[in-house]
Amino acid sequence: MRLDHYLFLNGWTDKKEVKRLAQRRKIKIDGLVEYNLSRNVDPQMHEIFVEERQLTQFPHQYFMLNKPAGVLSANKDEKLPTYRTLIDEENDALYPVGRLDFLTTGLLLITDNGPLGIDMLKPQQHVVKTYWVETLEALEKDDVAAFAKGIDFIGGVRTQPALLEILDDHHAKVTIQEGKYHQVKKMFLALGKKVEQLQRLSFGPLVLDMQLEPGEYRPLTVEEIQSLK
Ligand code: URA
Repeated sequence: MRLDHYLFLNGWTDKKEVKRLAQRRKIKIDGLVEYNLSRNVDPQMHEIFVEERQLTQFPHQYFMLNKPAGVLSANKDEKLPTYRTLIDEENDALYPVGRLDFLTTGLLLITDNGPLGIDMLKPQQHVVKTYWVETLEALEKDDVAAFAKGIDFIGGVRTQPALLEILDDHHAKVTIQEGKYHQVKKMFLALGKKVEQLQRLSFGPLVLDMQLEPGEYRPLTVEEIQSLK
């Protein structure tokens, strides 16, 4: 894995700050100052230090939850059940990266890596998300072009272009690169279609593990962790 990517996974998500650390001779590999951030490292083989602190292989926890309908993607709520009731982990620093609506199902990334989540949710990162959608009204060919153009919401906001793949009259896959509030539902509503069911199939490089029943979760694999950016 590249050194800068490994630092990213350890919470150093600010590229300028990482460059500064390298220039200030604060990054050491096996006791030697390292300036080359694109160098490949194997965290199991090398001793990597940043500002005198040794990095452990993966200091953070990462889970994929198949969120069921009827739980909030919030850590606490007075009245409604939250995703935390499904996660049997002591770690209080865990949080969901982005939110799914109460009734939306599918892939939710849970981690205690704060900077990673903040970074993945920045609009300029264009993290791609794909959803499976069921609509009440029948879908039409013209909807594909409307999604491709970007959709106007009430209030003058226009979404980025999105990919709509119609599967049959009432089902489609939608791929978006932003995360506006109730975005998918509002996009369909703007075309006169009510979303009846919504499931997130992918989030950035992560794809929903179909072995997970709704409500089940698992740790990310090393490859999945490495694929996060
Ligand atoms: N868009 C929505 O409308 N709801 C979600 O839960 C996710 C994306």
